[in-house]
Amino acid sequence: MAIKHHLTDDLLMAYAAGTLSEAFSLAVATHISLCDDCRATLAAYEAMGGAILDRGDDLAPMSNDALARALARLDMPAPASAQKMPKHPVLPAPLQHYVGTDLSAIKWRKLGMGVRQAILPTNGKGGSARLLHIPAGHAVPAHGHRGMELTLVLKGAFRDEAQQFSRGDIEIATEADEHTPVAMGDEDCICLAVTDAPLRFNALIPRLMQPIFQI
Ligand SMILES: [Zn+2]
Repeated sequence: MAIKHHLTDDLLMAYAAGTLSEAFSLAVATHISLCDDCRATLAAYEAMGGAILDRGDDLAPMSNDALARALARLDMPAPASAQKMPKHPVLPAPLQHYVGTDLSAIKWRKLGMGVRQAILPTNGKGGSARLLHIPAGHAVPAHGHRGMELTLVLKGAFRDEAQQFSRGDIEIATEADEHTPVAMGDEDCICLAVTDAPLRFNALIPRLMQPIFQI
């Protein structure tokens, strides 16, 4: 299924410039490993990086037009067709560095309401990263955000109040967003979730458990 929810240009540019935290870099790298569109955009930013990103203060927002022209100049090869792509493991290469390749070997810890998590060993500076395992039909307790949360689907699918996300899709939630992600269909949902500040849970119990769960 085609990926519908992508990275923002801001995140791709920051990744190209090397200014993202380890946790956010991991989320970007994992999405890029699954998404031809964002990989092509990133390649354009990286190619232009020396010329544009170094200018820093007078960096103007790039128009879509400018990006299209840059891509044309780079003569990007067309993305390989889906048929030619090797079948992806559930855990893409960037994540294998942290958790290996074996999904069944992951040490999950209960987060409540059937949801389990595995905190990934990033350096903890500027954000934390975890895998979430949401059983089919279950929900992550309703929460808001004090910063940015990226949620990338690796297996299954989830929906929140407004949208649906399946493998490769990335949801970008900010302080303005509150949501209750629910795993859809018959399949358990596994996501990579990255945050740069603790979540704001609406209910008392999840709030009390936050220090323990480091979420
Ligand atoms: Zn993308």
